[in-house]
Parts: sequence; C-alpha cells; structure tokens
Amino acid sequence: MNFRCECGQRIHDTTDYLSYKGYLISDQDQFDLLDEIDDAIEKSGPSSTDKEEAAMRIRSLIGTLFKTVYQCSNCGNFFIDNNHPRLEMFRGVNPVNRNLLMSALGDKWKGFIFAEWKDKIPDWQTSNGILYNETNASSLTVRLDGNGKYSAWETLEQDYYKLFNELKNKNAIRYSHLKKNNTVIHSWSLKK
Ligand SMILES: [Zn+2]
Repeated sequence: MNFRCECGQRIHDTTDYLSYKGYLISDQDQFDLLDEIDDAIEKSGPSSTDKEEAAMRIRSLIGTLFKTVYQCSNCGNFFIDNNHPRLEMFRGVNPVNRNLLMSALGDKWKGFIFAEWKDKIPDWQTSNGILYNETNASSLTVRLDGNGKYSAWETLEQDYYKLFNELKNKNAIRYSHLKKNNTVIHSWSLKK
C-alpha cells in the first residue's frame, strides 16, 4: 500500500524493514501481552505443536494490539492507522525529528544488501544492475559508483563487495545477496 502526505511525498509500504514505519501499543494492552508471552513460555506443552500454537497465539495478539504508524521522511508528519477508514495525521513542531521510527538500536541496527544483474532486462527496468541496501550505519567510507543502478557488471560487483565488507566489519548487516542472471554469486546471512 502507499499514500501521499500533504507535503506531496509518497509513503510506500511495500517492503520489510522500513525505517519510517513502526508499531504502537496502548498501556491498556501492554501487560496483557506480557502475560501472554509469559504463559507461552511457562505453560505451553512440551511438544513442537504446543510450542507452535503458543507462538501463533502471541503473533496473532501482536497483530491485534499493535497499531501501525508511519512518519513522512520529508516533512516529519506522523500517521497512525487506528483501524479508521483513513490514517490519522499529526503535524510536528519545528524542528521535527524525522527519524522517530528508526530502530531503537540506532546505527547498531543490522541492515541488508540485495544486488542483482541481468544481461537481458525486462521493458520496465531501466538498468541491467541494481544494488539496494538498507542500513543505519553512519560515516561509511564506501562510495557507491552506480547510485543503485548499474550498466556494468564489474562496477556492480565491486561496489557490492566494498559495501558488504564495510558493513560486516561494523557488525551492521544481517544478510547479503548478489545474483547474476538468476545464479547466486554470493550469499551471506547472520547465524542465529
Ligand atoms: Zn510530508
């Protein structure tokens, strides 16, 4: 889904790990949720089915109790999805902090990289290579040549590994994938 802020900025909600999306829980609900989590750990049965059912109950309750919120990264307006037909909008007081919904871990949040190259590209795609990354890590030394779009495989590959190595050294990455013509060239993910 996506919607437009009054400032003109379009706010997209089509992928995971968005830095401008969050969840809000009422104090009236928080203790009930914590009690349910305690019960799921302490009172669920020993079998894997029992544990799966307990986990599903928690996920379902989280889906019910949490309200989705968004912040416009351009003007800082705040939106709450309160199960009304429309989003409730709140305007901030200048200077507005536009990063209210970024991870509580700040620049220690673990991001990701996805890069893909295709020799033959579909009509709607404008470049052979794309590099998409999401990170809160600050003061990165790596400078990406392609600005997310690439017309040479070598440049894409080079930028991918530069970024991957820097984020890995900073312990600021959870997974990273590089594909070329549907073949996985490099794949890495954090061990759980
Ligand atoms: Zn706005």
